[in-house]
Amino acid sequence: MVTMCRGMHHLSMVCRNNEVLSPTYHPGVFSSGKWSCCDKIARYDAGCETSTILSSKASPDMTNGRKESAMEKSLLGIPPIPRTKPPEQPSSSTSKKSVIALYNFKPIEGGDLALEKGEEYEILDYSRDHWWQAKNKYGHVGFIPSNYVEGKTASGLEQYEWYERDMTRQRAEELLRADGKEGCFAVRNSSTPGLYTLSVFSRSPNLLVRHYHIKKQPNGQYYLSEKHLFSTIPELIQYHKHNCGGLVTRLRNPPSGNLRVAPTTAGLSHDKWEIDPSELTLLDELGSGQFGVVRRGLFRGSIEVAIKMMKENTMSEDDFIEEAKVMTQLQHPNLVQLYGVSSKQRPIMIVTEFMKHGALLTYLRKNESRIVSQVALLLDMCVQVCSAMAYLEMNSFIHRDLAARNCLVGNDNAIKVADFGLARYVLDDEYTSSGGTKFPIKWAPPEVLGYARFSSKSDVWAFGILMWEVFTGGKMPYGRNTTNTQTVELVQRGFRLEKPGFCPPEVYKFMRNCWEQTPEQRPSFAKLKTLLERLQEDRDYH
Ligand code: ADP
Repeated sequence: MVTMCRGMHHLSMVCRNNEVLSPTYHPGVFSSGKWSCCDKIARYDAGCETSTILSSKASPDMTNGRKESAMEKSLLGIPPIPRTKPPEQPSSSTSKKSVIALYNFKPIEGGDLALEKGEEYEILDYSRDHWWQAKNKYGHVGFIPSNYVEGKTASGLEQYEWYERDMTRQRAEELLRADGKEGCFAVRNSSTPGLYTLSVFSRSPNLLVRHYHIKKQPNGQYYLSEKHLFSTIPELIQYHKHNCGGLVTRLRNPPSGNLRVAPTTAGLSHDKWEIDPSELTLLDELGSGQFGVVRRGLFRGSIEVAIKMMKENTMSEDDFIEEAKVMTQLQHPNLVQLYGVSSKQRPIMIVTEFMKHGALLTYLRKNESRIVSQVALLLDMCVQVCSAMAYLEMNSFIHRDLAARNCLVGNDNAIKVADFGLARYVLDDEYTSSGGTKFPIKWAPPEVLGYARFSSKSDVWAFGILMWEVFTGGKMPYGRNTTNTQTVELVQRGFRLEKPGFCPPEVYKFMRNCWEQTPEQRPSFAKLKTLLERLQEDRDYH
């Protein structure tokens, strides 16, 4: 007993004086793919409560925005603690919060609550990331997708037709060009948090969409040109509807096209990931791949989905089904949303978001002559993929098979990463072992070729190859005639892919960063995303 107490005391002292230990812990248990205390889905995610033993020692930013410690890097292979903040949530999961619905939402299961765009709701419980319990003005209570609402006090802009929080620069350009009317405009959040960007279409001197940062004075006033200052953005917009005030043209109307497209939800409803086959209508075939045929389909006759029908004995099914529960909780605008699986019957069906234009590789090849010189468009594709990968990295999730063939293209050039993590469940040795004929060798870094050491940094290497695929219009890396064995030799000797013809040197520089010999030398996705976005803004802003 005394020995045990001494042991405990010693342990406590070691912890107390160890500055690299995380100051947070999970008071609950990890089961069915999530922590019971906070619903976080990554097993090694930062704890949700602060340890009284460690908190006095830890610096205030130990859990967010901090540097990865040597210990985290090595300790039992534990993935790093997320470095960026989780989505904005109220300070405690029980304090009240009012939100405005950005989109309509139709309930799917009993227990869901309908949302009406522009209406106000009170959030009763936001302890889960993706589905919050809300009350409407009639007192009805139910679950709503958390990405369909925005805090009332955040910016107050959500009520304006011309505002779309998450619109990319590329999508803004496409919508404004498609509308084609002089002075057509939209406002979106800038990639610099807290700032906004105004995009305006003008027909003269030539057809062009221009982007302006809405700047802010230290006293909080907004302006486009320093001569005209406004307390709010709506006031600024109102002024520039009547005066150019330095803009290429005066502002008229938001585009007639759909500015706000409702995003996907994490799963089709709260707590729904097992899908009954009778809820699915199978339609045309979209393609076929490693696991079998993929078909377009409808969920309950209305929601368009893609259904992957898994060939038997191609994957370790039980492990995958367990993991699928976790994967439905991964949600990002540039990840193909996994809605759920139908696992009670055979074949197993994986139900995901439907992507209108199919695989990115096919899309690049089909449109090569049209897009290969459009640097802004191609760079935007890379930024979108990088965004999804930064999200996976933050959640300690390794893709293992990132390539243009595993990304999909939707409306308005939206690119989404698909098939994340699936590689772990493939039973075919030809696909999983680095000596196999189906192993994606041309996308693999030296440490994967040598020791099968996968990490987010091996995904970074693959991302560099994907950037190269994008900027070559879908060419085969290292040429069609270079065999896998020759590729391994080339890479080990330090040979790297050359700069694609239209690719600006500053973009090629990022590819080369992704292909540094050791994982430690490569940038993280979070860093790459920031740098690529900065480059994007510097190139195109006026
Ligand atoms: P596998 O993972 O079995 O190799 P893929 O995911 O590559 O299969 O799918 C095969 C093809 O089916 C893709 O190349 C694409 O054309 C089509 N496809 C797959 N998923 C979707 C989707 N969500 N939306 C639209 N088309 C899809």
